[in-house]
Amino acid sequence: MKNVAVIGAGTMGNGIAHTFAQKGFKVQLIDISQQSLDKGLATITKNLDRMIAKEKISEADKETTLSNISTYTNIKEGVEYAGLVVEAATENIDLKLKIFRELSEACSEDTILATNTSSISITQIAAVTKKPDMVIGMHFMNPVPIMKLVEIIRGYNTSDEVTNTIMEMSKTLGKVPVEVNDYPGFVANRILMPMINESIETLYNGVAGVSEIDTVMKLGMAHPMGPLQLADFIGLDVCLSILNVMYDGFKNPKYAPCPLLVNMVMAGKLGVKSGEGFYDYSESRKAENVAKQFV
Ligand code: NAD
Repeated sequence: MKNVAVIGAGTMGNGIAHTFAQKGFKVQLIDISQQSLDKGLATITKNLDRMIAKEKISEADKETTLSNISTYTNIKEGVEYAGLVVEAATENIDLKLKIFRELSEACSEDTILATNTSSISITQIAAVTKKPDMVIGMHFMNPVPIMKLVEIIRGYNTSDEVTNTIMEMSKTLGKVPVEVNDYPGFVANRILMPMINESIETLYNGVAGVSEIDTVMKLGMAHPMGPLQLADFIGLDVCLSILNVMYDGFKNPKYAPCPLLVNMVMAGKLGVKSGEGFYDYSESRKAENVAKQFV
């Protein structure tokens, strides 16, 4: 399997494309927006330059990685030769179902269809395809080129063969895959999101300020980054939609998103990607705020 199509060139998609391309796969990076593709490629280039500066890769490795990536704005053209498709488009159930219906028509029967969804049911996504046994969750962590974990989520019908192939492929990417079952939030977000939501509630209730809450969790719990800053990195819109999926899926009020989170998303304060969330990421403040360990 040499050709991997990645759908979505945003925060996760460009990291996934980078990771596969650096390991020698030919990557077809697909996005509806040419601007997102340009931005995605610029991010990959910047991250490769950073790796050169840290002497982790050579200039030649950078050129090879970039030459392994081609870009498309049309799904059908982009997936033509793909043995694996990794979907990393916006976290929206209707959008994902639409994309997987299209993939099911456009791809050959032996193409594995993976989704990087943070929380949407793999079983539900698989149900709109002709071959639900070929659909699997491949949940990378942000930033993808650095983070080791990939949560591999088996849908109700995912075959053993597909699961084993994706587990092995994740290892060839230098990742550590962990197999989990398909329930809302899987494992990572079922545990992480209530913590982030509770941090926002703590802020909303006036118990402490942003930097106080983050400092308590960084210094007190040895977290590399506070939960509010982490929420900014993940994207507040992504956090909100994951909480909503868990709230709907379990019908349990403990997952109800904090009204402050809802308001911030409605106001367009989405975190790093919009320039402002709990912290200010505008150009003048960037150096001060961006977490050093991810730079
Ligand atoms: P993002 O908003 O940064 O990027 C989404 C991209 O999808 C955009 O470039 C958008 O133009 C593109 N897109 C939208 N509709 C499309 C379509 N029909 N065809 C092709 N491209 C389309 O989002 P993100 O943070 O990269 O999240 C992507 C996925 O990864 C989501 O499912 C999210 O839940 C998941 N995820 C996110 C994180 C994180 O930390 N941000 C971590 C793990 C998983």
